[in-house]
Amino acid sequence: MPELPEVETVKNTLNQLVKGKVIDHVTVNLARIIQRPDDIEQFAFMLAGHTIQNVERRGKFLRFVLDGLVMVSHLRMEGRYGVYASTDPVEKHTHVIFHFNDGTELRYKDVRQFGTMHLFQPGEEFKLPPLSKLGLEPLEQEFTPERFKAALAGKKSKIKAVLLNQAYVVGIGNIYVDESLFRTGIHPEQLVSTLTDEQFRALHQAIVDTLREAVEVGGSSIKSYVNGQGEMGMFQHQLKIYGRQNQPCLTCGTLIEKTVVGGRGTHFCPVCQTLK
Ligand SMILES: [Zn+2]
Repeated sequence: MPELPEVETVKNTLNQLVKGKVIDHVTVNLARIIQRPDDIEQFAFMLAGHTIQNVERRGKFLRFVLDGLVMVSHLRMEGRYGVYASTDPVEKHTHVIFHFNDGTELRYKDVRQFGTMHLFQPGEEFKLPPLSKLGLEPLEQEFTPERFKAALAGKKSKIKAVLLNQAYVVGIGNIYVDESLFRTGIHPEQLVSTLTDEQFRALHQAIVDTLREAVEVGGSSIKSYVNGQGEMGMFQHQLKIYGRQNQPCLTCGTLIEKTVVGGRGTHFCPVCQTLK
């Protein structure tokens, strides 16, 4: 699933490709992608004639800001946007097409069909699901070490499970949680309630650094992720722990182990990340 750096990259690409374009009409081929309104004809009717003013990001969600309307889109496992000429053949698994009045189209393709789209009046999107319960944005000024600690304080769960929960900090998932924990020497199963102030500070810094570095190179291309122009990110070549089970730790040479925490495959070095 794309995490913050990948969604940020898709957002940047989409801004280059569709900003200022006017939607003529919309075709929906798979109703379940459209979550709000619950009528796909209404969805298409509402969007027709509107201009895409900007594409923004909240956590792992894209926010298409139109004149008088906001579309919130989640790519989930394998959702992908691409811009095509209306004469280009439509590929398999293309579920939603935004036809622009200039002869181009924004197409949403999703092999796994888990992606979602919600339409809102401007401002309404932050008060309702799926954006209403989201936590701190790790690349915004609001993400200070103090707020990070306050958001997690008192939790009795394992640190990895809490970091995966988008109600506390948004945008980090399996890849960037494993990477951030490795950088700080914190074991993914350490209980949040036992973290020291020093560990909180280090973890805060590691999350910011890891995400910034990944955004800079366009995210990680694991499995099928590509940005809106079909380009791959490059951060997968800089991953120090994720996906490196049974390979030597880059710090101490011990073989990296893989276990399951919070229902997700979890990579850690048993020497650099001891369970306290
Ligand atoms: Zn190690």
